[in-house]
Amino acid sequence: MVIAGRAPCYLVVFHSGGRELTAIIPPTYLGSSFRASCRRMLEEVLVPAGFGVERPTLPVKLLAVRTGLGEYGRNDLCYVPGMGSFARLEAFITDADLVDGNSAVALDSGVRAAHVRMGSCSTCSSCHWACPTRCIPSDATLINAERCLTYLNENEGPWPDWLGRGSHNSLLGCMRCQEICPVNRPYLADPEIVAEFDDAETDVVLQNLRQDLLPDVIRAKLAALDLDDYSTVLGRNLLALMGPAGTGKE
Ligand code: SF4
Ligand code: SF4
Repeated sequence: MVIAGRAPCYLVVFHSGGRELTAIIPPTYLGSSFRASCRRMLEEVLVPAGFGVERPTLPVKLLAVRTGLGEYGRNDLCYVPGMGSFARLEAFITDADLVDGNSAVALDSGVRAAHVRMGSCSTCSSCHWACPTRCIPSDATLINAERCLTYLNENEGPWPDWLGRGSHNSLLGCMRCQEICPVNRPYLADPEIVAEFDDAETDVVLQNLRQDLLPDVIRAKLAALDLDDYSTVLGRNLLALMGPAGTGKE
């Protein structure tokens, strides 16, 4: 079972040296409450009937596209009708037999046919031009994932020499190809501020500490944002957003 739910962007405010920086978090990061509510709903129906529900590690974007729930954009994101790319995806398995024979045949043929790019991309290349790392080709099927900012800023290490300073735009990941996409226009909304870090807390974040070395209060704050797994890169990313001086508002 593949499930999609609306996933807006969020903002986090950091204070440093009397100045503040408001950083955006793209739609896919804050997802644990959606995951928990999906699981709870499925268990409420299936467990009393004698069936199990599990959430194994699965390539959910690929599953969503192959089962017809969404389509790939040129930026390799999954677009879901009514949500655009602002969709949180979850996949679960069950031993319940949910598909009758005829539907199984229809589903099987749908799986084979569904791996296609959405029609809007055939006359559009806005994301190709907006991408700060030029990793979205105009003529190939897949993006160059190792040049995507999301890959670069989710992983530890120095920025590559070719990456321009002005490329950074989010605390994690990148919003450029989603903001510019005309398919997303109806779903763009003003993001809500979900957390604020004072000077002392920002100083801790800037140290890129491992989770087990974080003070409890910071670990809890990052966990509430589903960012605790990224504690070793958030400070580096934040500095990049703050600009060359290391502080200030972009
Ligand atoms: S910006 Fe244009 S080409 Fe890129 S995903 Fe959206 S519709 Fe497709
Ligand atoms: S997330 Fe950013 S870097 Fe990655 S493909 Fe989209 S615009 Fe390019």
